[in-house]
Amino acid sequence: MYPRHIIEQVLNATDIVKLVSTYCELKPTGSDRYVSLCPFHTEKTPSFTVSKSRQIYYCFGCGKGGDAISFLKDIQNISFMDALEILADEAGIHLPKTSYSSKERSPEQNDRRTLFQIVELSVEFYRNQLTKSLNGKIAQEYLRKRNISPEIQEEFRLGFAPADGYSLYRFLKSKGFSERLLLRSGLIRSGGEEGRYYDFFRNRILFPIRNIEGKVISFGGREITGEGPKYINLPETEIYQKNKVLYGLWEGKETIRSYENVILVEGYIDVLRCFQSGIRNVVATCGTALTAGQANLMKRFAPKVIIVYDGDEAGLSASIRATSVLLQAGLTVSAVTLPDGKDPDDFLQSNTVSEWNQRISSASTFFTFYLQQKQNLLSTPQGKITVLSELFRLISIMEENSIKEEFLKEIASALRISFWAVKSDYEQYLKNNYSVRSQTNNSHLESVSVDDIDFLHGLINDEQIKMRTKKLFQEIPLPETPLGMAVKYILENEDPDPRFMEECEGKKLLQKVLLSEPVNNDLKTLAIERLNRLHIEYINQQIGSIQQQIQEAEKRQQKERLMELLSNQKELITKRSQLSGVQIQNKR
Ligand SMILES: [Zn+2]
Repeated sequence: MYPRHIIEQVLNATDIVKLVSTYCELKPTGSDRYVSLCPFHTEKTPSFTVSKSRQIYYCFGCGKGGDAISFLKDIQNISFMDALEILADEAGIHLPKTSYSSKERSPEQNDRRTLFQIVELSVEFYRNQLTKSLNGKIAQEYLRKRNISPEIQEEFRLGFAPADGYSLYRFLKSKGFSERLLLRSGLIRSGGEEGRYYDFFRNRILFPIRNIEGKVISFGGREITGEGPKYINLPETEIYQKNKVLYGLWEGKETIRSYENVILVEGYIDVLRCFQSGIRNVVATCGTALTAGQANLMKRFAPKVIIVYDGDEAGLSASIRATSVLLQAGLTVSAVTLPDGKDPDDFLQSNTVSEWNQRISSASTFFTFYLQQKQNLLSTPQGKITVLSELFRLISIMEENSIKEEFLKEIASALRISFWAVKSDYEQYLKNNYSVRSQTNNSHLESVSVDDIDFLHGLINDEQIKMRTKKLFQEIPLPETPLGMAVKYILENEDPDPRFMEECEGKKLLQKVLLSEPVNNDLKTLAIERLNRLHIEYINQQIGSIQQQIQEAEKRQQKERLMELLSNQKELITKRSQLSGVQIQNKR
């Protein structure tokens, strides 16, 4: 474990606002606070709050809170030590070597680190194969024909897996990695009668897939010789869950933030083509149908998604599936079809960027888009029902009623029927297709009352309340509750900074307090009442324990002891009624 002053030095050198912005879109609310959709739980309105001056965060939805180190630890699912090391590294702080070596890390953390290293070295290996080896000529030729510029190849670190099927294995083996970890990286497989090891990719152009921090965690591979499936992807590993990754997101996230929308395309090459044309707010799923996790990932950076899938039937049904997932995540969805069944790559090779921009900016909502696509079905009553059911299903996914009505109106005008007719059809649809929608579960929400939070606000900001509180807890002990722990820390520290508080429920509570505003406007009265209640609770405990002692003394016929206990009890009861009186007076 590092000494405390080192941890403090790292925390002081880190800006939590900048750190959190890597993972989600922080919006300022007031001079000090920022809010975002929580990266730790699924939600539709932001309750994840960050304070710049305090350098802490707290989520009012799921109760997660902490400082820069705990944020990095939780979001990357790594150890405290690893998070500390990463932040120290970024801040240019040299950590003393002796106090913490890789031996102290758990085997799983060491394995994760090694897996990242294996993948990173493989990126370099494949990159060299593409750019520097004879083998790579055929791949280079392919990329040249597809008009992927060397700059874009460089930015996306494209590579080439040679045909022999073992050169990556040899290379990684020469770097000293164990077979166990090579197999776990997915890049190396074993099999056959002799149990030989071989490379997962052979004779393919490789598209490294980066996570949200920019680290490569996987690859997609495209064949170039007409053999085997067109695209294959590495299976999921400990460091790669496809559910949590979008191709192009790391590269494009700054643009996505500033445009407040993201363009969703189907393939790796589509993303590369857009970037090459200067369009940088583009992502693709990595060879899979869009998942809820990916939709939530997009939502952390922009509220609106524009789908540009291939203009064929398969592309259309994929876009319906994607829309359903995106709407469920609470995103606004519009869609664009490109003429003559073109994909974004084709379109941008034969059209100008301004033609592209014009199509994107005039993208219609998904509903209008879908009705246009299904125009031919709308002429028969049966076809109309099919189309409407699909749209009603999408509308029923959405949460806000006002938006639903808007879309029903849009459908009505597109079909040239009255809004009321569409609405009654929709209601009929709901009756026939009733399903229980999943609700976000906030069961782990802390059960601390608003009064307790406001009491702590008062305690931090009001000297009189502080004095009163100090006085009370010289008389009685602090309760062993989150409230008690927070009170203790506030009383002991001039400017209480939860970052430097030891890990406990009281720390969480203090984070919550510092990131919220008081609800009550008379904090003094509230504090007096709360202190009285704490005092009364303590006296009740005492009376309870004296009652037990009295029974004991009666049993043993200890007369003197009994007298003493009874007098103590009487005193406590008097004190309690005095305190209750104070409480009543204050309420008036
Ligand atoms: Zn949360």
